[in-house]
Amino acid sequence: ARGAGPNTWRAYDPRLRADLARSAARRSGLDRALAEGSFELYYQPIVWLDDGDIGGFEALVRWPQPDGTIIPPDEFIPLAEATGQILPLGRWILRTATDQAARWNVTRLAQGVAPVKISVNVSAHQLRDPGFPDEVGKALTDAGLDPAFLMVEATESSLIDRAGTALANLRTLTRSGVGVSLDDFGTGYSSLSYLRDLPVNTLKIDKAFVDGVPDEPRQTALVKGIIGIAKSLTLMVVAEGVETSQQRRALARMGADLGQGYLYARPMRVDEATKLMCAGHVK
Ligand code: C2E
Ligand code: CA
Ligand code: CA
Ligand code: CA
Repeated sequence: ARGAGPNTWRAYDPRLRADLARSAARRSGLDRALAEGSFELYYQPIVWLDDGDIGGFEALVRWPQPDGTIIPPDEFIPLAEATGQILPLGRWILRTATDQAARWNVTRLAQGVAPVKISVNVSAHQLRDPGFPDEVGKALTDAGLDPAFLMVEATESSLIDRAGTALANLRTLTRSGVGVSLDDFGTGYSSLSYLRDLPVNTLKIDKAFVDGVPDEPRQTALVKGIIGIAKSLTLMVVAEGVETSQQRRALARMGADLGQGYLYARPMRVDEATKLMCAGHVK
């Protein structure tokens, strides 16, 4: 609208209004979906790079529509964050995911195989909530899941919180035995000394870096460096977006522990994930 007078803004009015109407509709749609329980969790396996055993699953939320289409999280999580609706939605996600992991681990126990971990994404808003650790504790107790089998995934940017509540919450969680993953690592602004002091035990290398492995030498060198730093801090390393077996081999050779990506499986519905889990390893 620079220098164009009040009419320029009017020129955008219809589109702006349409946008506002759409997000208002989405907002009340989110409320309705929460009330009706129409969200769904998909699960994507996180796999040991060396032998293909399933170490766990990441829960990824979806919003199925009456017409059969599915709204991906990128299209409603930011809105839910902005409106605060992420708090009740996040609570539902946490409860559903921990409950599912507890069920899976009953099966695993009966089969005499190691339990799986469940990774749950948490938003900045949830992390800053002083009641968050208690909420996690209650979810674990109600599900009957040992804290050692829950991983909370937090992004670097969600930890930038002036009051420091997010970090205090993560510290409380790690002390109680819950694992913390630093998600999308490399895309934020963390300095290395900051990383040293964070209450995290796992680093997830963002897909953007994994994409260049092994063909782009500079990208590959960077990933190798990240893995080296993680190892020197005794952090576990998960590579995101592993799509080819060349990537898998290169990442394993560089010392990454686990991988997640289309090479192994796409995020899938709970019954499919259960079948995959019972089959043992994926590749
Ligand atoms: P994220 O936490 O980085 O999740 C990984 C995303 O990469 C997922 O997208 C997953 O489907 C996708 N992905 C996994 N492997 C591959 C691969 O090999 N190739 C490609 N191209 N993509 C792969 P999704 O499920 O659409 O989720 C997008 C983002 O939405 C997530 O990124 C996360 O930030 C957010 N999100 C998803 N579920 C939740 C949730 O339950 N709570 C919160 N707060 N955020 C969530
Ligand atoms: Ca994640
Ligand atoms: Ca991620
Ligand atoms: Ca990512």
